[in-house]
Amino acid sequence: MARLVLTAPMAAVATPELVSRLERALALFPELGDERVTIGVTASRRLDGLAYPSERLIRLNPYRRKQVPYFTIGHELTHLVQPPGLALIPSGEVQCDIWTLARDSLFLDEKPCYLEVSCDGRKWRRHAHAVRELCQRAIEIRQSNRRYIVWLRAQLCAYFNRADVEQPSLFDMMPLTPPPRVTTQALNR
Ligand SMILES: [Zn+2]
Repeated sequence: MARLVLTAPMAAVATPELVSRLERALALFPELGDERVTIGVTASRRLDGLAYPSERLIRLNPYRRKQVPYFTIGHELTHLVQPPGLALIPSGEVQCDIWTLARDSLFLDEKPCYLEVSCDGRKWRRHAHAVRELCQRAIEIRQSNRRYIVWLRAQLCAYFNRADVEQPSLFDMMPLTPPPRVTTQALNR
């Protein structure tokens, strides 16, 4: 597992819960190897997160909410796997959301930021697993079809247009996870 290093400003404010979340998330990124990944604080309190892939550095906003969502941590770590980082997956924000959701159900605790899903934050938990499965299938489809995002958007549209979308709730299945917060994410992370 990559070695977690906090910048001095982050070390000064990081709660044990945040450090635990960072370690849990980082353990899901074996491709980052054993080298250090640095976690800093965003310069602007309006931002949820930022990534500097060449420096293996991400910045998070520990002030904005009660807890930094796993989704935000996962999204920023996924940027390190994109160019100009490890370049193992395609670049782009929507792509970053797709690969984050597909990686692990840990990252389903909040609605994606750039991949459009037709539900509000409160209802997201009912649809998160279904959306994650579609993301995983889109990544498989990409091997033979570069229009996999077009395919995914059509599938998401069809899914959310169904009259009786009834999926098991993520939090029914993960009782230890705290309930989600209804928040709006900054678009310019
Ligand atoms: Zn991003």
